[in-house]
Amino acid sequence: MTGSSAGAARTPRAALAELLTGNRRFVSGQPVHGHDVTAAAAVASGDQQPYAVLLGCIDSRVPLEAIFDQTFGSICVIRTGAHVLDRAVCGSIEYVVGQLGVPLVMVLGHERCGAVASAVDTLRTGERPGGSLAYLVDQIAPAVTEVGADDPRAHPMAVRRHVLRTVAALRADDLLTGPVAAGRVDVVGAVYDLATGEVTLLDR
Ligand SMILES: [Zn+2]
Repeated sequence: MTGSSAGAARTPRAALAELLTGNRRFVSGQPVHGHDVTAAAAVASGDQQPYAVLLGCIDSRVPLEAIFDQTFGSICVIRTGAHVLDRAVCGSIEYVVGQLGVPLVMVLGHERCGAVASAVDTLRTGERPGGSLAYLVDQIAPAVTEVGADDPRAHPMAVRRHVLRTVAALRADDLLTGPVAAGRVDVVGAVYDLATGEVTLLDR
């Protein structure tokens, strides 16, 4: 391993700083873990000591370990279409926070998200997709409605609103609300810019 201080980032503030510093390394083209994608690096990581759990989108352009320049054992990653929650996602986050003592949960949306575009299209046309895709769209739709489906900027605004709605839902989660209230855990929202590689925190 090359100098990760992941094990030391045991407060929400330190964990967030660690993540954002990693994203700056990625953006600057000077990742320290970019060469660590080998079985040897995986073996060398030993026990995991993750300091953050990230919930992001399935989009193939948004690999979370890469954009935060993280190596084996440092972050837990969950990805669903437009970071939509379900019980498995919430249970996984509860496990990471409760059992592994991770102090930070980050929800990461991204520009040009296809799942959010599907929700915008559904509200504009009234044509709801079938199958379980309908579940995804239904979970994103309230964010689109809040920003106004017919607004020309509905998509980028809905991306942000949907992140904040997901953050609010997690902060209200049965097993997270106590640690959050005590300041031991924070849940933050951010957006990834495909054009620059930058991650920008959203104000609550
Ligand atoms: Zn997406």
